[in-house]
Amino acid sequence: MNQNNSVMICGFGVSGKAAARLAGYLGKHIVLVDENNSREMRDQAAEIKKQYSCEMEPYFSWTPEITLPRCDTAVMSPGIRRGSPLFLAAEQAAGQVISELEFAFRHIACPIAAITGTNGKTTTTELTTAILKASAIRAESAGNIGHALSDCAIEVQEQRVKYLVVEVSSFQIDTISKFPKHPAAILNIAGDHIDRHGSIDAYAATKFRIFAGSPDAPPETRIINSNLTDYKNRFLPPGLPATTFSATDPRADFTLENGIIKFHGKEILPFAESRLKGAHNAENIMAALALVRAFLGEDAIFASCVKEAIRAFQPDAHRMEVFLEKNGVKYINDSKATNPHAVNAAVATFANGRNILLILGGLDKNMDFTELEKSLPHIRQAFLIGQCKEKIYDAISHEVKCKMSSSLESAVKDACSIAKPGDCVMLSPATASMDMFRNYAERGSRFKEIVTELLSVKNT
Ligand code: ADP
Repeated sequence: MNQNNSVMICGFGVSGKAAARLAGYLGKHIVLVDENNSREMRDQAAEIKKQYSCEMEPYFSWTPEITLPRCDTAVMSPGIRRGSPLFLAAEQAAGQVISELEFAFRHIACPIAAITGTNGKTTTTELTTAILKASAIRAESAGNIGHALSDCAIEVQEQRVKYLVVEVSSFQIDTISKFPKHPAAILNIAGDHIDRHGSIDAYAATKFRIFAGSPDAPPETRIINSNLTDYKNRFLPPGLPATTFSATDPRADFTLENGIIKFHGKEILPFAESRLKGAHNAENIMAALALVRAFLGEDAIFASCVKEAIRAFQPDAHRMEVFLEKNGVKYINDSKATNPHAVNAAVATFANGRNILLILGGLDKNMDFTELEKSLPHIRQAFLIGQCKEKIYDAISHEVKCKMSSSLESAVKDACSIAKPGDCVMLSPATASMDMFRNYAERGSRFKEIVTELLSVKNT
């Protein structure tokens, strides 16, 4: 094998498979390593080998006793921790260990916008892509969103895509040694993933590395929420200018004033014309506009096609999705809210006095639930489920009446039984879902099913 033309793919999950496809497309010799071994993995590996006629050495059921061959580069799946046996073995065998994202970045020549933040990445990534498409640009969303960047790299190489908008999680930033020079936005930073990063400061420092590739880039390419200025002063070189956005700070470049989204005081559009709700979503729109400005210039953001794209944009399911309104009660599926910051955003959007009947709880990620404090005055009662219900109880029961439930079904039943006109029955759990469900989507769909069944039973 030619070591210089070899790539080791560590972890054959979604991103590993995409990296293998890109490596195959590039004609690399592929060394495939995974601690697991399934029929599906073997079939997919064989398919990639056949499709690209590439050389492939699989090491499925890998254990630390198995020595890996020397390779030029190892591409590490985000699920494999730094310091784990596979990570250490790959470091020994390969000249460099990089993430799937960085591997893809190295083979992409088109403009890229990168988006990170604790919450709002998917919404902002999709909206930015929608605005670019409406501006007659062949753009695609990529990254965390499910469309792996390595697959997009192939599309770019084949000229099918001209601009990429990439959602980047802090886990992915962690393994990027060199960021490309491209516009990037940090939407917000709040408590989440602290179990992995150690502290909120370490987490914030990771997020700010998204700008590391472009210290000399113009300010329109460095986009941050204006409430992150303290972090900016600490984690970027002093005096480095940035473009700011904020729903509350009138000194930001993009602002929300009397319900109007503006840039430097000039109206772009009334926020109410968008289907997105809540001040946090106004900020997501501003961040998307800021990225479009960085690509296409200032005039572009005032174009009517941009406004049209914002008006037409439908947020994805499971994000503050009002899926039913009955007898004056709103039923809201916000299953994607996996941290208190997202819950606070949802509660602030629908609060009207103490009208929120909130279903909370699930798998704890070492979360600080006292961050729910500012939502508490609006919660009439909380229904607690999942592995960390006691921990949430300890954090909020001093101000909110709480009821522990053994299942989502009984929590929904309890919440619906006391709902009165003006109330919102909302699943916004502040936690991951994997203690009780496969993922947040399954949790959200189940919530909708239970509510729908329960309300139709009530009617008969
Ligand atoms: P991500 O991809 O970062 O998880 P999503 O757009 O999927 O972001 O939204 C995840 C959750 O965060 C949803 O509950 C959504 O309502 C909430 N959310 C979206 N944008 C923001 C924001 N800017 N600030 C706080 N919460 C937000």
